[in-house]
Amino acid sequence: MKIVVLKFGGTSVGSTDRIKKVSKIITSYIKKKYKVIVAPSAMKGVTNDLIRKSKEISNNFISDEYDVLVSSGEQMSCSLIAGSLNHLGYKSRSWLGWQVPILTEGGFSKARIKYIYKKNIMKYLKSGGIPIVAGFQGINSNSRITTIGRGGTDASAIMLARFFNAEKCIIYTDVEGVYTTDPNTIKKAKKIKVISYEEMLEMASLGAKVMQPHSIQDARLNRIDIDVRSSFKQTSGTLITKRKNILSNKIIRGVSFTKNDAKITLVGVKDRPGVAASIFEPLYINSINVDMVVQNISSNGRETDLTFTIKSEDSVKTEKLLKKNKKINFRKIIVDKKVSKVSIIGVGMITTPGVTYRMFNALAKKNINIIVISTSEIKISVLLNRRDLNKAVNILHKEFRLEK
Ligand code: ADP
Ligand code: ASP
Ligand code: MG
Repeated sequence: MKIVVLKFGGTSVGSTDRIKKVSKIITSYIKKKYKVIVAPSAMKGVTNDLIRKSKEISNNFISDEYDVLVSSGEQMSCSLIAGSLNHLGYKSRSWLGWQVPILTEGGFSKARIKYIYKKNIMKYLKSGGIPIVAGFQGINSNSRITTIGRGGTDASAIMLARFFNAEKCIIYTDVEGVYTTDPNTIKKAKKIKVISYEEMLEMASLGAKVMQPHSIQDARLNRIDIDVRSSFKQTSGTLITKRKNILSNKIIRGVSFTKNDAKITLVGVKDRPGVAASIFEPLYINSINVDMVVQNISSNGRETDLTFTIKSEDSVKTEKLLKKNKKINFRKIIVDKKVSKVSIIGVGMITTPGVTYRMFNALAKKNINIIVISTSEIKISVLLNRRDLNKAVNILHKEFRLEK
């Protein structure tokens, strides 16, 4: 049995007209003798609207009910697609996470798919039906509804492909594939034909919204090839696959950026062994993710400055936690929400010297100040003033000849 999993993102199912278009894409695979499993997102804007509603009730909306609420958008798109396929004369029905069931582990809003029961959907596929399985949702061991993080339908599709042993997993979205940088921000962005899991994971984690980072981890662990393409245009897309399958010798594959960072500096921290751990412990307990960290060497052995970045939405909470932390002493706290992080990504930098220099030099030539730097084997990130963001992305795109 040739199975294909088709994921449709929010814009792709954003209106009833779009649902009709998507139904045509689905039936085109049926005509090619595929058994199709569909994983749709909620219609564009619906999940954001549900989140807004929860905030109107409480800024601390109870986490288990929050997941019941925000997962409900996918129920609507599933039934609309099934209804549309029925209208065209095809057998189709919706499956919510608890009906499959899709088992998840981990806390509400950040669960991960652990197991998908196959029996009923398999039977349905064999009988010629088209199952529409709600993305983004599952249940935990107490049968409570869970969600798997924003953009999570990507991971739902990949895990469906894994458990059903699909021949293909196709992510239909509103751009033609994965680009060297966000094509909606930088006009010269170029579509990437093939990219490794490692590079895609870095690009996604560092801000390329086109794929959810967890979904790429799931794909890499299970060796699922992903085809990212447009639901609006019939053009070839991007293949995300293992490194061995890639011949191209690009040093840098892409430039990612984020706009929602905040920088916190603690000035005059009393230095002693364990101080960094004392600063970050309450942030960890409150699930606040710390990204870049720099600590100056204390010149007199007594005091130091420590700078780190977090998501801007966490900045108020972080400031409060730092101020009430009895284990640390500092003179002043500075919060800067007008920063952005720009990263260059590519496995080629492992073997090519001088990439760091080229990046810093290109930014310096345009008078762009670097605030914080962090590197890994296949990426270099710099924190900048947000007003320099577009200029920086453009100049790095050019420096590493990504438009070619
Ligand atoms: P979907 O609703 O289909 O899941 P998303 O909005 O989550 O779609 O992701 C697609 C968007 O990702 C694009 O519209 C684009 O603006 C953005 N994006 C950011 N970086 C990239 C990139 N490097 N390549 C392609 N798209 C990107
Ligand atoms: N609807 C969810 C979100 O907006 C999941 C998804 O779109 O993949 O985050
Ligand atoms: Mg998405």
